[in-house]
Amino acid sequence: GLSEKLQGVFKNLKGKGSLTEADINDAMREVKLALLEADVNFKVVKEFVSSVKEKALGEEVMKSLTPAQQVIKIVDRELTELMGGAGSKLTYSPRGFTVLLMVGLQGTGKTTTCGKLANYLKNNGKKPMLCACDIYRPAAIDQLEVVGKAVDTPVFTMRDCREPEKIALAAMKEAELKGYNVLIVDTAGRLQIDEALMDELVTIKKAVKPHEILLVVDALTGQDAVNAAEGFNEKLGIDGIIMTKMDGDSRGGAALSAKKVTGKPIKFVGMGEKFDALEPFHPDRMASRILGMGDMLTLIEQAESSYDDEQAAALEKKIRKNQFTLEDFLDQMGQIKKMGGISKLLGMMPGMNSAAMKNVNVAQSEKEFVQMEAIIQSMTKAERENPNILNASRRRRIAAGSGQPVSKINSLVKRYGEAKKMMKQFSGKGGNSRMNRMFR
Ligand code: GDP
Ligand code: MG
Repeated sequence: GLSEKLQGVFKNLKGKGSLTEADINDAMREVKLALLEADVNFKVVKEFVSSVKEKALGEEVMKSLTPAQQVIKIVDRELTELMGGAGSKLTYSPRGFTVLLMVGLQGTGKTTTCGKLANYLKNNGKKPMLCACDIYRPAAIDQLEVVGKAVDTPVFTMRDCREPEKIALAAMKEAELKGYNVLIVDTAGRLQIDEALMDELVTIKKAVKPHEILLVVDALTGQDAVNAAEGFNEKLGIDGIIMTKMDGDSRGGAALSAKKVTGKPIKFVGMGEKFDALEPFHPDRMASRILGMGDMLTLIEQAESSYDDEQAAALEKKIRKNQFTLEDFLDQMGQIKKMGGISKLLGMMPGMNSAAMKNVNVAQSEKEFVQMEAIIQSMTKAERENPNILNASRRRRIAAGSGQPVSKINSLVKRYGEAKKMMKQFSGKGGNSRMNRMFR
């Protein structure tokens, strides 16, 4: 499976002390094959791999992580991002009565999922009611009634009515009247998306104005599930996806592609036929499940945070001893960059207001960082440790070496001086906690 394949790729990287571009290219070729074999959408794979590659080559080397760990960290982060980042919850209508419209092709698990959702909602303090709008087979209504009984939830039916939108409207009235606060509407499916089905669903949508339209797709159908999601989203508009049969041996491709292809998040996954087998979808947990290395990821997180702590502590000591060098200055700017820009850092500092932050351009500061790095790398050890010795001829030599104008060197030295002064203030009485906050 995908997990084994990815783990194999990382194993190959493990022995290496440092990674070359060729190592990363080889690894990414393997990752690409593994994802394609898992039935992930081709375009999604291409974008994913190039994004991971770019980050792996661009990432600053962290002493506390091995090269393999760094690549794992990047793949984990990108997988999480691919599946929707922070994750997306079910939302409820602010007016206190929520209608959820369940749609999807035949056999994907709509009716079963209606029961699972009712169960989930009850466990979360809601009072759900079910509504049977699959009018084509009497057996479908019977099925929902069985489901309702199993999860102890009332089911609204109108067996002789041929207009599902009327059934749904009547159910809303009844549910509100009786004090229920969520109505889950089960609908008919087809083997394929056709106009009649879409017209019917659009009519129901217009009548009941559901708070969320949830599309149920079957993970086992792979890319077909993703194509169906695209189709329903175009013709009807959906708010989220519930991916069923994740307990089966799907290759994982649908779960990985759905968000990227449709722009709509997976909100729940079905993990079995029982009514408690429904889980909110967490992209980060899914990513580590796919990577099959939860422990390794925890380790990486710990290593990262201790790296930052150690750095901050060492820097603090240097400042107190007045040994803050240009190299430390560069390190510190690197930390800022890693933390997501200087504006965030400024926001944490006392006395810095939003007006001051408006003048900071993040992209510009990234570019400046690269230039600063080049300049400092062109200095001798003695110059880095004691910038006071930087006379005009040294500055000209550094300018030539780094490909930057002398004016840039002058402004770097000036900024370093200002930073040093500011830090001395911080390291005075009461400055410690602020310092810690600054560098973390
Ligand atoms: P509908 O036609 O979309 O309403 O689909 P049903 O709710 O009738 O489900 C079709 C089949 O899929 C049933 O046998 C369900 O038990 C099964 N099913 C639904 N969800 C899951 C799931 O998450 N895992 C497994 N293994 N089976 C499921
Ligand atoms: Mg059904």
